[in-house]
Amino acid sequence: MSNFRNIPVKKRIALVAHDNRKTELADWAYMNRELLSQNELYGTGTTGKLMEETLGQPVIRLLSGPLGGDQQVGSMIAEERIDLLIFFWDPMSAQPHDPDVKALLRLCVVWNIPVASNRATADFIFTSPLMSHDYIATQIDYDHYLNRKL
Ligand code: PGA
Repeated sequence: MSNFRNIPVKKRIALVAHDNRKTELADWAYMNRELLSQNELYGTGTTGKLMEETLGQPVIRLLSGPLGGDQQVGSMIAEERIDLLIFFWDPMSAQPHDPDVKALLRLCVVWNIPVASNRATADFIFTSPLMSHDYIATQIDYDHYLNRKL
Protein backbone atom coordinates (compact mmCIF):
# COMPACT_ATOMS: atom_id res chain seq x y z
CA MET A 1 0.00 0.00 0.00
CA SER A 2 1.27 3.50 -0.81
CA ASN A 3 0.75 7.05 0.32
CA PHE A 4 1.14 10.04 -1.95
CA ARG A 5 3.31 13.13 -1.86
CA ASN A 6 2.95 16.17 -4.08
CA ILE A 7 6.06 17.45 -5.85
CA PRO A 8 5.00 21.02 -6.68
CA VAL A 9 5.59 22.85 -9.93
CA LYS A 10 8.17 25.03 -8.18
CA LYS A 11 10.54 22.37 -7.01
CA ARG A 12 13.04 22.47 -4.20
CA ILE A 13 16.21 21.24 -5.86
CA ALA A 14 19.40 20.26 -4.02
CA LEU A 15 22.66 20.55 -5.95
CA VAL A 16 25.78 18.72 -4.80
CA ALA A 17 29.02 17.84 -6.58
CA HIS A 18 32.27 16.33 -5.42
CA ASP A 19 35.35 18.39 -6.23
CA ASN A 20 36.31 16.47 -9.41
CA ARG A 21 32.81 16.97 -10.79
CA LYS A 22 32.13 20.58 -9.81
CA THR A 23 33.17 21.94 -13.21
CA GLU A 24 30.79 19.53 -14.93
CA LEU A 25 27.93 20.53 -12.64
CA ALA A 26 28.66 24.25 -13.16
CA ASP A 27 28.63 23.71 -16.92
CA TRP A 28 25.36 21.76 -16.78
CA ALA A 29 23.78 24.31 -14.43
CA TYR A 30 24.71 27.20 -16.72
CA MET A 31 23.14 25.40 -19.69
CA ASN A 32 19.97 24.92 -17.61
CA ARG A 33 19.98 28.29 -15.85
CA GLU A 34 16.58 29.34 -17.12
CA LEU A 35 14.73 26.32 -15.75
CA LEU A 36 16.80 26.32 -12.57
CA SER A 37 15.79 29.94 -11.96
CA GLN A 38 12.13 28.89 -11.77
CA ASN A 39 12.83 26.64 -8.80
CA GLU A 40 14.18 26.97 -5.27
CA LEU A 41 17.80 25.93 -5.05
CA TYR A 42 19.77 24.41 -2.20
CA GLY A 43 23.38 23.32 -2.18
CA THR A 44 26.09 21.95 0.05
CA GLY A 45 28.53 24.68 1.08
CA THR A 46 31.10 24.81 -1.71
CA THR A 47 28.76 23.61 -4.45
CA GLY A 48 26.14 26.13 -3.35
CA LYS A 49 28.66 28.99 -3.59
CA LEU A 50 29.73 27.83 -7.05
CA MET A 51 26.09 27.61 -8.16
CA GLU A 52 25.38 31.15 -6.95
CA GLU A 53 28.38 32.44 -8.89
CA THR A 54 27.47 30.43 -11.98
CA LEU A 55 23.76 31.19 -12.03
CA GLY A 56 23.60 34.63 -10.44
CA GLN A 57 20.62 33.49 -8.37
CA PRO A 58 20.35 32.81 -4.67
CA VAL A 59 21.10 29.31 -3.44
CA ILE A 60 20.31 28.28 0.12
CA ARG A 61 23.64 27.02 1.32
CA LEU A 62 24.02 24.20 3.81
CA LEU A 63 27.22 23.00 5.42
CA SER A 64 30.03 21.71 3.23
CA GLY A 65 29.43 18.03 2.38
CA PRO A 66 32.22 16.48 4.47
CA LEU A 67 31.23 18.69 7.42
CA GLY A 68 27.62 17.46 7.48
CA GLY A 69 26.04 19.02 4.38
CA ASP A 70 25.12 15.69 2.80
CA GLN A 71 23.44 14.66 6.05
CA GLN A 72 21.54 17.96 6.09
CA VAL A 73 20.24 17.28 2.57
CA GLY A 74 19.27 13.77 3.69
CA SER A 75 17.35 15.03 6.68
CA MET A 76 15.56 17.61 4.50
CA ILE A 77 14.52 14.80 2.16
CA ALA A 78 13.14 12.84 5.12
CA GLU A 79 11.22 15.95 6.23
CA GLU A 80 9.81 16.40 2.69
CA ARG A 81 11.66 19.69 2.20
CA ILE A 82 13.61 18.65 -0.93
CA ASP A 83 11.91 17.41 -4.11
CA LEU A 84 14.79 16.59 -6.41
CA LEU A 85 18.52 15.93 -6.05
CA ILE A 86 21.25 16.59 -8.59
CA PHE A 87 24.29 14.93 -7.07
CA PHE A 88 27.36 14.54 -9.27
CA TRP A 89 29.39 12.23 -7.04
CA ASP A 90 32.89 11.13 -7.92
CA PRO A 91 33.14 7.43 -8.83
CA MET A 92 36.97 7.52 -9.07
CA SER A 93 38.08 8.91 -5.69
CA ALA A 94 37.51 7.80 -2.12
CA GLN A 95 35.67 10.46 -0.11
CA PRO A 96 36.24 11.10 3.60
CA HIS A 97 32.47 11.26 4.05
CA ASP A 98 31.63 8.17 2.03
CA PRO A 99 29.12 6.89 4.64
CA ASP A 100 27.25 10.21 4.38
CA VAL A 101 27.12 9.91 0.57
CA LYS A 102 25.73 6.40 0.83
CA ALA A 103 23.19 7.51 3.45
CA LEU A 104 22.00 10.37 1.25
CA LEU A 105 21.55 8.11 -1.79
CA ARG A 106 19.72 5.60 0.37
CA LEU A 107 17.24 8.20 1.62
CA CYS A 108 16.46 9.18 -1.99
CA VAL A 109 15.22 5.62 -2.50
CA VAL A 110 13.38 5.51 0.84
CA TRP A 111 11.50 8.72 -0.02
CA ASN A 112 11.17 8.17 -3.80
CA ILE A 113 13.13 11.28 -4.73
CA PRO A 114 14.31 11.77 -8.34
CA VAL A 115 18.10 11.84 -8.29
CA ALA A 116 20.63 12.47 -11.06
CA SER A 117 24.19 11.29 -10.51
CA ASN A 118 25.33 12.17 -14.00
CA ARG A 119 24.72 14.69 -16.73
CA ALA A 120 22.64 12.42 -18.96
CA THR A 121 20.18 11.70 -16.15
CA ALA A 122 20.06 15.38 -15.22
CA ASP A 123 19.24 16.19 -18.87
CA PHE A 124 16.50 13.57 -18.98
CA ILE A 125 14.95 14.91 -15.76
CA PHE A 126 15.18 18.53 -16.85
CA THR A 127 13.56 17.87 -20.22
CA SER A 128 10.72 15.93 -18.62
CA PRO A 129 7.27 17.57 -18.90
CA LEU A 130 6.94 16.83 -15.18
CA MET A 131 9.38 19.69 -14.50
CA SER A 132 6.61 22.16 -15.31
CA HIS A 133 3.77 20.37 -13.50
CA ASP A 134 2.83 19.19 -10.08
CA TYR A 135 3.64 15.50 -9.74
CA ILE A 136 2.02 13.06 -7.38
CA ALA A 137 4.78 10.74 -6.21
CA THR A 138 3.82 7.46 -4.65
CA GLN A 139 5.31 6.97 -1.27
CA ILE A 140 5.90 3.54 0.17
CA ASP A 141 3.81 3.05 3.27
CA TYR A 142 6.17 2.32 6.15
CA ASP A 143 3.35 1.76 8.66
CA HIS A 144 3.97 -1.97 8.77
CA TYR A 145 7.56 -1.23 9.72
CA LEU A 146 6.65 1.46 12.26
CA ASN A 147 4.01 -0.75 13.85
CA ARG A 148 6.06 -3.95 13.88
CA LYS A 149 5.90 -6.11 16.97
CA LEU A 150 9.03 -5.89 19.10
P1 PGA B 1 30.74 20.72 -1.00
O1 PGA B 1 30.29 19.27 -0.60
O2 PGA B 1 29.68 21.27 -1.91
O3 PGA B 1 30.84 21.52 0.27
O4 PGA B 1 32.06 20.59 -1.70
C1 PGA B 1 29.99 18.36 -1.59
C2 PGA B 1 30.08 16.97 -1.05
O5 PGA B 1 31.17 16.44 -1.02
O6 PGA B 1 29.09 16.40 -0.63
